Amino acid sequence: MAVGDARPARAPARAARLPRRPRLGGPLGTTGVVVLTNAEVKPQESYPCVHCGHCLDACPVFLNPQLLGSLARMERYEEMEQNHLADCMLCGSCSYTCPSNIPLSQLFALAKAALKKLKAA
Ligand code: SF4
Ligand code: SF4
Repeated sequence: MAVGDARPARAPARAARLPRRPRLGGPLGTTGVVVLTNAEVKPQESYPCVHCGHCLDACPVFLNPQLLGSLARMERYEEMEQNHLADCMLCGSCSYTCPSNIPLSQLFALAKAALKKLKAA
């Protein structure tokens, strides 16, 4: 804008002002990256379920990870399906909170794959 010009400079269009958002990790985007040391990723022993209910409290979609976990260990995949395994988004909250270190979400991922295979056969 020149000195003495009464009109204010025109603001750039809204789209030009907004920073471009990077598109990462699919439609929902990447929310974070967790980096673990070798010691942290070392497989840890798991113990029997102590029926504490922490996994039920942790599940964001109100599943019963304790029940699903025991069905998974017995490979009773159809019963897992009846107990809404399809709603599990494999977030890992149940595994994280389990004091017995039961790899619940990993079991659910395996069960989902097994069911997919059964249906394809
Ligand atoms: S992994 Fe599945 S069952 Fe476990 S807390 Fe997440 S949604 Fe619930
Ligand atoms: S959090 Fe682990 S120990 Fe507690 S009820 Fe769930 S599966 Fe069992």
